[in-house]
Amino acid sequence: MTSRLYYTDSFLYEFDAAVCEVVCGERPAVILDQTAFYPTSGGQAFDTGYLEANGQKLRVTEVAEDEQGTILHYIDPAASLAPGTRVRGTIDAARRRDHMQQHSGQHVLSAAFVGLFAMPTVSFHMGEESCTIDLQARSLAPAQLEEAGRLANRVITDDRPVEIRFASLEEARALGVRKLPEAQRDKLRLIDIRDFDLTACGGTHVRSTGQIGPILLRKTENARQGVRVEFVCGERAVTAAQRDYATLVEAAAVFSAHISDVPQQVRRAQGELKAAQKTQQKLLEELAELRRAQGELKAAQKTQQKLLEELAELSAARLVAESTLRHSSRSDPFRMVTKVFPDRDVAFVKLLAQKIAAAGPAVALVASTSGPPTLVFCQTPGLPFNMGALLKDTLAAAGGRGGGARDFAQGSLPDGAQVDGALRQALGSFAQ
Ligand SMILES: [Zn+2]
Repeated sequence: MTSRLYYTDSFLYEFDAAVCEVVCGERPAVILDQTAFYPTSGGQAFDTGYLEANGQKLRVTEVAEDEQGTILHYIDPAASLAPGTRVRGTIDAARRRDHMQQHSGQHVLSAAFVGLFAMPTVSFHMGEESCTIDLQARSLAPAQLEEAGRLANRVITDDRPVEIRFASLEEARALGVRKLPEAQRDKLRLIDIRDFDLTACGGTHVRSTGQIGPILLRKTENARQGVRVEFVCGERAVTAAQRDYATLVEAAAVFSAHISDVPQQVRRAQGELKAAQKTQQKLLEELAELRRAQGELKAAQKTQQKLLEELAELSAARLVAESTLRHSSRSDPFRMVTKVFPDRDVAFVKLLAQKIAAAGPAVALVASTSGPPTLVFCQTPGLPFNMGALLKDTLAAAGGRGGGARDFAQGSLPDGAQVDGALRQALGSFAQ
């Protein structure tokens, strides 16, 4: 069994040892006769550092303890260390000091929660950034958190000695130890914070509570086992407080406000955002409604257009059938349709004229008087007449305006009363 030097001296950062065994494989590791390296256990993380042997410096990347209690030092690069080789171990002192601060701080904090509120700690986790303890409790009020923090920090400023004692299980029970290990051991290692806490622990601790530095309690949350309390000690507490302050300053700058006004500013901004989102939602709904209405209107217009075309088609067929067949020396016989539509608009009348011409050979001399009085002259292409010229002559007599090409022409008259006369005049020109 490796002798654990940190059991009696947590501040031993350099030591000499002999290699007992070399474990080869994917991650080579060495087992030493004695070590000051702490393996991950009891919530405290492992130490890192170096092993020097035969002029070679090997990095210790991780230290772990197996189920039999064997301590494995994982090394990089993998080196061929023979059993019996003398090595010099150096521990990363800054990392160890940080771990001692967190771990010792946890003892103080756990004892404070027991002493004040009878809330025992059921688990401890030391993370890279912060630490947590899970308290066996239904709930924890903000005032209780504050009180525990105050007591823990007072115990720290008391600078009480932290001593290591060894005792049997019976002796430990008689001493009223706060927490006993689950595993049965002949000899227990007790950590004694003078007149404040006595608990069994195998970790590394400070010599007096002052070395822990400040304890900063952070968030609490419900955990499976009770209430989880996040905290940081020592330099981590200072770093965390500085980082928190920088974050607050940055947030305050966003609002051009003092840091104490940040919560109020955030609430105001959140309110404004919600109102804007509500307005946007309302506008989107209105837009959707308008789009739907527009779609319906387009569909209705399309249907109306289709109906008008059908109507024009049928009216044209009927008018052509009812019309007289005209004979002209200038062409083959053709149909002549003349009609005034007092209830139809120009668009319909134009459509009708085109349908009549299409059903031809035919000439349509039609008019709409529902709006501005309008004449539409149209002929089947191939007929020899000139609608444009005919319209021009017709309008000239009545003082109207308009024009067109050979097969189609359109124009308006100043007065609806002139329409019948104008059509008669135009029709008369075909008699010649
Ligand atoms: Zn401990």
